Amino acid sequence: MEDKKRVMGIDLGGTKILSAVVDETGKLLARDHSVTPAEKGEKVVLEAIEGSVGRALEQAEMDISEMLAVGIGAPGPSNPDTGILFTSPNLPGWKDVHITDILEDRFGKQAFLVNDANAAALAEHRLGSGRGARDLIYITVSTGIGGGVIIDNRLYTGAIGTAGEPGHMTINDKGPPCNCGNQGCWETLASGTALAREARKHIEGGRKSLILEKASGDLEKVSAEAVQKAAEDGDELAKELIAELGYYLGVGLANLINLFNPERIVIGGGVSNIGDRLLEPAFETARKRAYTVAFDAVRFVAAELGRNSGVLGAALYAFDAMKG
Ligand SMILES: [Zn+2]
Repeated sequence: MEDKKRVMGIDLGGTKILSAVVDETGKLLARDHSVTPAEKGEKVVLEAIEGSVGRALEQAEMDISEMLAVGIGAPGPSNPDTGILFTSPNLPGWKDVHITDILEDRFGKQAFLVNDANAAALAEHRLGSGRGARDLIYITVSTGIGGGVIIDNRLYTGAIGTAGEPGHMTINDKGPPCNCGNQGCWETLASGTALAREARKHIEGGRKSLILEKASGDLEKVSAEAVQKAAEDGDELAKELIAELGYYLGVGLANLINLFNPERIVIGGGVSNIGDRLLEPAFETARKRAYTVAFDAVRFVAAELGRNSGVLGAALYAFDAMKG
């Protein structure tokens, strides 16, 4: 009997499920990637998780009995202490799901739940570009904005576990409606969805732009990627919209800097790959708006772990929880 410790990590997203066998050092020993049948509801999604876990184990040539525990990262507000996922904008119909109980029943192993972006924050802190920072903020900018807060080397989850949702800070109290029910949240102004929405609005208003061409001439297909590609070809509207997105990104960063005085801010997610065109106005805005001393103390770094950050973080969270 080997004494090597391993955990089954699961990253449950609205579009994909990643399952991985992870060892105590954070090494990924096997990984399965599959599509989330989100629209088919909770029962079918749970079956898909079971299938994905089975395939990851097969790849690793291991049995679930060889896992120390199961750690799952899930989108939406959840309570890691009770294992309840309250709701999830990405998983229609899920309400107060006691996900750790369900996983314990299915796998016969102790299970732990953590918010997906919090999991990614933990992984970047332990294994990625956050290594060595005592206090850090992680943000991921994609269709929305997720995040996580590490204070004094520990993931901060708050009173009932819902802390670390920077995407839902109010930036404009009269801004666009948000999935969370509020309006003008950071992610309604500084995410990929916001970029695509603003592009569509200007094109509909008659602005000439390469963006439409980059979306195969279909207004419905206008995406953040289409705007990025048009900007790379010198399109004026695309460049303006990205600079505006950067401005709003910077407004939110200033709030985070003033609230937490982090040593490092790790930035990940597909939209952040736009690079300097987005980040320069973001940092410039943050510099103007945050306390100068706090801004000067923070280092901005790109996330390192890419798509594996959630599944690695879910596993690390379970390892930590087992240690107590
Ligand atoms: Zn919101």
